[in-house]
Amino acid sequence: MAKAPVLTPRAVDFPRWYQDLVSKAELADNGPVRGTMVIRPYGYGLWERMQAEMDARIKETGTQNAYFPLLIPQSYLTREADHVEGFAPELAVVTHGGGKELEEPAVVRPTSEMIINDYFSKWVQSYRDLPLLINQWANVVRWELRPRLFLRTSEFLWQEGHTAHATYEDARDFAAHIHRQVYEDFMLNVLAMDVVPGRKTVKERFAGAVNTLTLEGMMGDGKALQMATSHELGQNFAKAFNTSYLSKDGTQELVWQTSWGSTTRMIGALVMMHGDDDGLRVPPRLAQIQAVVLAIKGDEAVLAKVRELGDRLKAAGVRVQVDDRTDVPFGRRAVDWELKGVPVRIEIGPRDLENGTAMLARRIPGGKEPMPLDTLVDLLPGILEEDQALLLRQSRERRESRTTDVSTFDEAVEAAVAGGWARIPWATLGVAGEAALAEHSVTVRCLVAEDGSVPDDGDAPGNVAIVARAY
Ligand code: AMP
Repeated sequence: MAKAPVLTPRAVDFPRWYQDLVSKAELADNGPVRGTMVIRPYGYGLWERMQAEMDARIKETGTQNAYFPLLIPQSYLTREADHVEGFAPELAVVTHGGGKELEEPAVVRPTSEMIINDYFSKWVQSYRDLPLLINQWANVVRWELRPRLFLRTSEFLWQEGHTAHATYEDARDFAAHIHRQVYEDFMLNVLAMDVVPGRKTVKERFAGAVNTLTLEGMMGDGKALQMATSHELGQNFAKAFNTSYLSKDGTQELVWQTSWGSTTRMIGALVMMHGDDDGLRVPPRLAQIQAVVLAIKGDEAVLAKVRELGDRLKAAGVRVQVDDRTDVPFGRRAVDWELKGVPVRIEIGPRDLENGTAMLARRIPGGKEPMPLDTLVDLLPGILEEDQALLLRQSRERRESRTTDVSTFDEAVEAAVAGGWARIPWATLGVAGEAALAEHSVTVRCLVAEDGSVPDDGDAPGNVAIVARAY
């Protein structure tokens, strides 16, 4: 008899599979207030690794971390009209504190452009203060109506970068640099995720931005997910907060700005892009546990061998965990590590000891084979790199095989509704076509240039719109 599946199979019910996985792999639980989430240690460990990899890339650009308050005065919200209008429906407002009604209500930040500009306007005096490059790791609150763990929660964790520059060109180039050299590089090389870099249409761009750059990923069911965004803010916030500087020529000029964010949504993307019917598959470069060494039985010799192998792998630079919980049945532990997507399991029992081998189970390509212990230690770093590359290849193949070039609105809708992406000339779709997509719950994910690059001009002839259903 076939064993009962641990998770609802993806082909049966993809959203249900996602929920099952998030819960059974112990990534997160729903919080008590609708839309909030409790991130469990294994899920938080993924976030910490994401933070470490992203933070290093962000600092590489010369950006420094700082921290701004969670609560912002409600009066800020009258300053930048588009921004305020865009965020108004999602705001949480604090009206009482210390048992009293507040004179001025405070808003829980949905993003920090406003408060950061208030301080930038004090910190920036002359051209010598520019560029000013600040990032913060924080939580934000957006009252989401259709929450889903990690993908869309009312409170989420993120990094938000905010920069001020002397010229339009400098700001534009910086937003593009973050888009490709920080976000795309991290997604390709750490998350092993195929992503498409593009430009948002005017309809889809960030409230208050003059240009939004995005990375779109295709999930396992063919839907799209916006993975991270980098915005050119032009001088919109500079005007609203009078963020200006004394130029070399002695004139007072407004700064040009960018902002950019990536969130705990990336954990949801990891599940939906790399997960399978047995659970998560974590890319080795991201994994906080790259290899788990399991004692099959609790006898002393096995336990000693397992611990020794753990030490040797650690010395070889592998992030390793020893699982010697032999009071839990071995089968259950194996299924659990499989669910959590740890790239390799190394299983050792009494018989392996006699043979000087261990059983190597690879989560990413699947399969199990015995291997001499010395060989295993030597080969493991290379195996992990192979598996990293395989995940990226698989996600790219999925996107390529489920993307169709089309030439009419109807064909675009059909491809998106069928669970794929359509590429349609933007000149054919146009603003009216884009608006009509909404009836079919389909959106333009991004615009790309004919040669696949990110267009400098959204309306350049030859731009292609990528059209899909999205999370
Ligand atoms: P934004 O500041 O609106 O550009 O958002 C930055 C990034 O946050 C987006 O690119 C999304 O990937 C992500 N994001 C937006 N809303 C949520 C949410 N409710 N939960 C998790 N991530 C989100």
